[in-house]
Amino acid sequence: MRSSDETARAGQGASGLSAFVREDVESYLASHAEDDYPDVLVERLRELGAFGATVPVEHGGSGRPSQEVAQLSYELARGWQSLAGLVGTHLKLCQQMLRHGTEQQKRTWLAPMARGEQVFARAYHERGVGDPAAVRTTVDISDGTGRLNGHKSWVTNARHADRIVVIARADDATVGVLTDPHRPGIDIGAELPRPGMLGVSLAEVTYRDYAFDPKTEVIGGPEHDLTDALRTYDVTSYVARALGSADAVYESALRFVRETAHHRSPEARGAIGLRMGELSTQRSAMHAVWQCLTEQRPPLTPGAAKVFCTSALQELVRAASVLCGGAAYAGTLNALGRHYRDALALPIIGTPNDILLSRIGERELAGDDT
Ligand SMILES: Cc1cc2nc3c(=O)[nH]c(=O)nc-3n(C[C@H](O)[C@H](O)[C@H](O)COP(=O)(O)OP(=O)(O)OC[C@H]3O[C@@H](n4cnc5c(N)ncnc54)[C@H](O)[C@@H]3O)c2cc1C
Repeated sequence: MRSSDETARAGQGASGLSAFVREDVESYLASHAEDDYPDVLVERLRELGAFGATVPVEHGGSGRPSQEVAQLSYELARGWQSLAGLVGTHLKLCQQMLRHGTEQQKRTWLAPMARGEQVFARAYHERGVGDPAAVRTTVDISDGTGRLNGHKSWVTNARHADRIVVIARADDATVGVLTDPHRPGIDIGAELPRPGMLGVSLAEVTYRDYAFDPKTEVIGGPEHDLTDALRTYDVTSYVARALGSADAVYESALRFVRETAHHRSPEARGAIGLRMGELSTQRSAMHAVWQCLTEQRPPLTPGAAKVFCTSALQELVRAASVLCGGAAYAGTLNALGRHYRDALALPIIGTPNDILLSRIGERELAGDDT
């Protein structure tokens, strides 16, 4: 992963984003409650074109290559994982619209999605249902009207999204239904309590006979069953996000250690140096994994990279917090606490690490080297 300064040189979007994170996000977090919805930051993200990164130019976006999209996740996660979650979900839904939407849907939605005028959220998971083909939410169509019924357990940005794409089972395929949170038949639950990923809402969403137009509001169908796409859901962005947090945390810890070194005893300096060496080694290993992933160097797979980097991040943040003592827990470095709490979600979200590990193990046992 490139440093922030290199990113700044890589193009207008990335440049704007790293400055946005350094200036706007940091000052926002210093002066607002972490669980307030960050309207002002979302507006800046619109201005910076962040919502259009995966939308091709002909549809009004900036059509950035995947490496730059990962860089965007990295930058946002350096500042605040919640923003990376909000934007990342939307960008993946833009890709889904592009791959599985009709020409009419692409013409209607992609340009406003790219401008961030229509921010999309995704309602896929249901408690304990890990397989897209097994979702219990159903679509029924009769007399030209669709009806959606089901319950989704966690939806990021549910309260502020303009549209929620619901993954549901139709007779002949797993599809996405474009739902409007302001129409009848949808109930967005209370904010879910959690230790991290605050600011951007997380809520349960229930559909009871939600009526929709099956011609214009369904993404996918028998010709475009979304099951496979959802099973191979891109985990690369979570690696970039883990790296973003790791770099932010590492740099804070290093700064703190340098600034406070002069009043330490020689003994303490030695012990702190050793811990700093451990942190640096861990961070270097994460960067090496990222490099192998982007260069598609076997035997590393995206799943293995996600497992390694999200686990290493937890260890790194914990160790950095110990190293910075009280300042990390309740003082000038309390952003470490936020990174620590946010890091707890990364092994769970996307595809959970244990599922990725099981798949890796199965492949190894089957002797499949691909
Ligand atoms: C902060 C946050 C934001 C989220 N945002 C969204 C969102 O916007 N949209 C959305 O649709 N979902 C969202 N989710 C849901 C998230 O994707 C799921 O929580 C996640 O996929 C895990 O599903 P689960 O909680 O049902 O875990 P479970 O399926 O109950 O699994 C729990 C644990 O059991 C083990 N396990 C289960 N199945 C297997 C298996 N096959 N192999 C090996 N081990 C297994 C693993 O240890 C796993 O971690 C969000 C969750 C969080 C925490």
